[in-house]
Amino acid sequence: MGGTFDPIHYGHLVTAEEAFVRFKLDRVIFIPSGMPPHKSERKVADGAHRFIMAQMATITNPHFDVSRIEVDEKGPTYTVDTLKKLKVGEYKDAELIFITGADAILEIFTWKNPAELFTMCRFAAATRPGYVVSEDLLKSLDKFGTGKVDFFEVPALAISSTDIRRRVKEGRPVRYLLPDEVISYISKNGLYSE
Ligand code: NAP
Repeated sequence: MGGTFDPIHYGHLVTAEEAFVRFKLDRVIFIPSGMPPHKSERKVADGAHRFIMAQMATITNPHFDVSRIEVDEKGPTYTVDTLKKLKVGEYKDAELIFITGADAILEIFTWKNPAELFTMCRFAAATRPGYVVSEDLLKSLDKFGTGKVDFFEVPALAISSTDIRRRVKEGRPVRYLLPDEVISYISKNGLYSE
Protein backbone atom coordinates (compact mmCIF):
# COMPACT_ATOMS: atom_id res chain seq x y z
CA MET A 1 0.00 0.00 0.00
CA GLY A 2 1.72 3.13 -1.21
CA GLY A 3 1.08 6.66 -0.09
CA THR A 4 2.74 9.76 1.24
CA PHE A 5 0.90 9.22 4.54
CA ASP A 6 1.47 12.84 5.54
CA PRO A 7 -0.02 12.03 8.00
CA ILE A 8 -1.55 8.54 8.07
CA HIS A 9 -5.24 8.63 9.11
CA TYR A 10 -8.24 6.35 9.65
CA GLY A 11 -9.16 6.55 5.94
CA HIS A 12 -5.87 4.81 5.08
CA LEU A 13 -6.35 2.20 7.81
CA VAL A 14 -9.91 1.41 6.74
CA THR A 15 -8.73 1.19 3.11
CA ALA A 16 -6.03 -1.32 4.07
CA GLU A 17 -8.42 -3.46 6.10
CA GLU A 18 -11.04 -3.38 3.35
CA ALA A 19 -8.42 -4.43 0.76
CA PHE A 20 -7.11 -7.15 3.08
CA VAL A 21 -10.53 -8.79 3.22
CA ARG A 22 -11.76 -8.01 -0.31
CA PHE A 23 -8.63 -9.28 -2.10
CA LYS A 24 -7.95 -12.10 0.40
CA LEU A 25 -4.45 -10.80 1.14
CA ASP A 26 -1.88 -12.39 3.43
CA ARG A 27 -0.62 -9.04 4.63
CA VAL A 28 -0.67 -5.33 3.86
CA ILE A 29 2.68 -3.56 3.75
CA PHE A 30 2.41 0.19 4.16
CA ILE A 31 5.15 1.87 2.10
CA PRO A 32 5.47 5.57 2.95
CA SER A 33 6.87 7.31 -0.16
CA GLY A 34 10.45 8.44 -0.14
CA MET A 35 10.90 11.72 -1.91
CA PRO A 36 7.77 11.76 -4.09
CA PRO A 37 8.92 12.82 -7.59
CA HIS A 38 5.66 14.74 -8.19
CA LYS A 39 5.58 16.62 -4.87
CA SER A 40 8.22 19.29 -5.40
CA GLU A 41 5.60 22.02 -5.01
CA ARG A 42 4.92 21.38 -1.31
CA LYS A 43 7.06 20.49 1.64
CA VAL A 44 6.39 16.92 2.76
CA ALA A 45 7.17 15.87 6.35
CA ASP A 46 10.42 13.99 6.72
CA GLY A 47 10.23 10.30 5.76
CA ALA A 48 11.42 9.34 9.26
CA HIS A 49 8.38 11.07 10.80
CA ARG A 50 5.94 9.56 8.29
CA PHE A 51 7.40 6.09 8.85
CA ILE A 52 7.09 6.35 12.65
CA MET A 53 3.51 7.65 12.42
CA ALA A 54 2.61 4.72 10.12
CA GLN A 55 4.16 2.30 12.59
CA MET A 56 2.27 3.80 15.52
CA ALA A 57 -1.01 3.64 13.61
CA THR A 58 -0.62 0.00 12.53
CA ILE A 59 1.07 -1.54 15.57
CA THR A 60 -2.01 -3.34 16.91
CA ASN A 61 -2.88 -5.03 13.61
CA PRO A 62 -1.03 -8.35 13.17
CA HIS A 63 -1.42 -8.41 9.37
CA PHE A 64 -0.15 -4.86 8.78
CA ASP A 65 3.56 -4.05 8.32
CA VAL A 66 5.38 -0.82 7.49
CA SER A 67 8.37 -0.83 5.13
CA ARG A 68 11.35 1.56 5.09
CA ILE A 69 12.12 0.60 1.48
CA GLU A 70 11.33 4.08 0.11
CA VAL A 71 12.04 6.39 3.05
CA ASP A 72 15.62 5.06 3.24
CA GLU A 73 16.31 6.08 -0.38
CA LYS A 74 18.27 9.30 -0.86
CA GLY A 75 16.84 10.43 -4.20
CA PRO A 76 13.33 10.36 -5.71
CA THR A 77 11.49 7.06 -5.47
CA TYR A 78 9.43 5.39 -8.19
CA THR A 79 6.88 2.62 -7.70
CA VAL A 80 8.34 0.51 -10.51
CA ASP A 81 11.74 0.42 -8.74
CA THR A 82 10.15 -0.34 -5.37
CA LEU A 83 8.24 -3.28 -6.85
CA LYS A 84 11.40 -4.62 -8.48
CA LYS A 85 13.17 -4.57 -5.11
CA LEU A 86 10.27 -6.36 -3.44
CA LYS A 87 10.23 -8.96 -6.21
CA VAL A 88 13.89 -9.93 -5.75
CA GLY A 89 13.76 -9.84 -1.99
CA GLU A 90 11.43 -11.13 0.66
CA TYR A 91 8.39 -11.18 -1.64
CA LYS A 92 9.93 -12.82 -4.72
CA ASP A 93 7.23 -15.51 -4.91
CA ALA A 94 4.35 -13.28 -3.86
CA GLU A 95 1.55 -12.04 -6.05
CA LEU A 96 1.57 -8.30 -5.43
CA ILE A 97 -1.37 -5.92 -5.45
CA PHE A 98 -0.43 -2.23 -5.23
CA ILE A 99 -3.09 -0.43 -3.21
CA THR A 100 -3.36 3.33 -3.33
CA GLY A 101 -5.77 6.23 -3.81
CA ALA A 102 -7.75 6.43 -7.07
CA ASP A 103 -6.56 10.03 -7.58
CA ALA A 104 -3.00 8.75 -7.72
CA ILE A 105 -3.98 5.99 -10.18
CA LEU A 106 -5.52 8.66 -12.46
CA GLU A 107 -1.97 9.90 -13.00
CA ILE A 108 -0.44 6.48 -13.56
CA PHE A 109 0.34 7.18 -17.22
CA THR A 110 2.78 9.87 -16.02
CA TRP A 111 4.61 7.47 -13.65
CA LYS A 112 7.95 5.90 -14.57
CA ASN A 113 7.53 2.92 -16.97
CA PRO A 114 3.75 2.41 -16.64
CA ALA A 115 3.73 -0.51 -19.11
CA GLU A 116 6.33 -2.37 -17.06
CA LEU A 117 4.43 -1.58 -13.86
CA PHE A 118 1.38 -3.36 -15.19
CA THR A 119 3.42 -6.52 -15.77
CA MET A 120 4.53 -6.59 -12.14
CA CYS A 121 1.33 -6.28 -10.15
CA ARG A 122 -2.37 -5.59 -10.12
CA PHE A 123 -3.67 -2.33 -8.68
CA ALA A 124 -6.39 -1.62 -6.15
CA ALA A 125 -7.57 1.98 -6.29
CA ALA A 126 -9.51 3.32 -3.30
CA THR A 127 -12.12 5.94 -4.09
CA ARG A 128 -13.71 8.57 -1.89
CA PRO A 129 -17.56 8.63 -1.61
CA GLY A 130 -19.21 9.99 -4.74
CA TYR A 131 -16.17 9.36 -6.95
CA VAL A 132 -17.13 8.38 -10.49
CA VAL A 133 -14.56 6.44 -12.50
CA SER A 134 -14.61 7.86 -16.04
CA GLU A 135 -15.18 5.55 -19.01
CA ASP A 136 -12.18 7.13 -20.74
CA LEU A 137 -9.91 6.19 -17.84
CA LEU A 138 -11.21 2.63 -17.79
CA LYS A 139 -10.60 2.34 -21.56
CA SER A 140 -7.06 3.69 -21.19
CA LEU A 141 -6.31 1.29 -18.34
CA ASP A 142 -7.65 -1.61 -20.41
CA LYS A 143 -4.72 -1.08 -22.81
CA PHE A 144 -2.58 -2.65 -20.08
CA GLY A 145 -4.83 -5.68 -19.66
CA THR A 146 -8.43 -5.90 -18.54
CA GLY A 147 -8.92 -6.28 -14.81
CA LYS A 148 -5.52 -4.91 -13.83
CA VAL A 149 -7.10 -2.14 -11.72
CA ASP A 150 -9.89 -2.71 -9.22
CA PHE A 151 -11.66 0.39 -7.93
CA PHE A 152 -13.30 0.13 -4.52
CA GLU A 153 -15.14 2.77 -2.51
CA VAL A 154 -14.04 3.53 1.03
CA PRO A 155 -16.50 5.84 2.84
CA ALA A 156 -13.86 6.60 5.52
CA LEU A 157 -11.76 8.29 2.81
CA ALA A 158 -13.88 11.38 3.38
CA ILE A 159 -10.93 11.95 5.76
CA SER A 160 -7.91 13.43 3.98
CA SER A 161 -4.33 14.22 4.94
CA THR A 162 -4.64 17.66 3.33
CA ASP A 163 -7.60 18.51 5.57
CA ILE A 164 -5.75 17.21 8.65
CA ARG A 165 -2.66 19.32 7.91
CA ARG A 166 -4.86 22.38 7.42
CA ARG A 167 -6.71 21.71 10.67
CA VAL A 168 -3.47 21.34 12.63
CA LYS A 169 -2.16 24.60 11.19
CA GLU A 170 -5.39 26.42 12.08
CA GLY A 171 -5.62 24.86 15.55
CA ARG A 172 -8.87 23.08 14.71
CA PRO A 173 -9.71 19.59 16.07
CA VAL A 174 -8.32 16.43 14.48
CA ARG A 175 -9.41 13.96 17.15
CA TYR A 176 -11.22 10.89 15.70
CA LEU A 177 -9.72 11.53 12.24
CA LEU A 178 -6.49 9.68 13.06
CA PRO A 179 -5.17 7.60 15.98
CA ASP A 180 -4.52 9.47 19.25
CA GLU A 181 -0.88 8.31 19.27
CA VAL A 182 -0.31 9.93 15.88
CA ILE A 183 -1.96 13.15 17.06
CA SER A 184 0.39 13.22 20.07
CA TYR A 185 3.38 12.58 17.80
CA ILE A 186 2.38 15.46 15.50
CA SER A 187 1.99 17.78 18.45
CA LYS A 188 5.23 16.71 20.15
CA ASN A 189 7.23 17.22 16.96
CA GLY A 190 5.50 20.41 15.87
CA LEU A 191 4.50 18.95 12.50
CA TYR A 192 2.21 20.89 10.13
CA SER A 193 2.08 23.96 12.36
CA GLU A 194 3.67 26.17 9.68
P1 NAP B 1 -1.20 11.77 -3.57
O1 NAP B 1 -1.13 12.57 -4.82
O2 NAP B 1 -0.61 12.34 -2.32
O3 NAP B 1 -2.63 11.30 -3.24
C1 NAP B 1 -3.60 11.21 -4.22
C2 NAP B 1 -4.92 10.95 -3.53
O4 NAP B 1 -4.96 9.58 -3.13
C3 NAP B 1 -5.14 11.78 -2.29
O5 NAP B 1 -6.49 12.08 -2.24
C4 NAP B 1 -4.72 10.83 -1.17
O6 NAP B 1 -5.41 11.09 0.05
C5 NAP B 1 -5.15 9.48 -1.72
N1 NAP B 1 -4.27 8.40 -1.24
C6 NAP B 1 -2.93 8.32 -1.35
N2 NAP B 1 -2.49 7.15 -0.86
C7 NAP B 1 -3.58 6.49 -0.42
C8 NAP B 1 -3.78 5.23 0.17
N3 NAP B 1 -2.74 4.41 0.40
N4 NAP B 1 -5.03 4.85 0.50
C9 NAP B 1 -6.07 5.67 0.26
N5 NAP B 1 -5.96 6.88 -0.31
C10 NAP B 1 -4.73 7.29 -0.65
O7 NAP B 1 -0.51 10.38 -3.88
P2 NAP B 1 0.76 9.84 -3.25
O8 NAP B 1 0.45 9.46 -1.85
O9 NAP B 1 1.89 10.78 -3.50
O10 NAP B 1 1.05 8.57 -4.17
C11 NAP B 1 0.35 7.39 -3.98
C12 NAP B 1 1.30 6.24 -4.35
O11 NAP B 1 1.59 6.28 -5.73
C13 NAP B 1 2.64 6.32 -3.62
O12 NAP B 1 3.06 5.04 -3.29
C14 NAP B 1 3.56 6.92 -4.65
O13 NAP B 1 4.92 6.56 -4.48
C15 NAP B 1 2.99 6.34 -5.93
N6 NAP B 1 3.35 7.21 -7.06
C16 NAP B 1 4.36 6.80 -7.86
C17 NAP B 1 4.79 7.61 -8.89
C18 NAP B 1 5.92 7.13 -9.77
O14 NAP B 1 6.36 6.00 -9.61
N7 NAP B 1 6.39 7.96 -10.66
C19 NAP B 1 4.15 8.84 -9.13
C20 NAP B 1 3.11 9.20 -8.29
C21 NAP B 1 2.69 8.38 -7.25
P3 NAP B 1 -4.56 11.46 1.36
O15 NAP B 1 -3.83 12.72 1.01
O16 NAP B 1 -5.57 11.61 2.42
O17 NAP B 1 -3.60 10.32 1.53
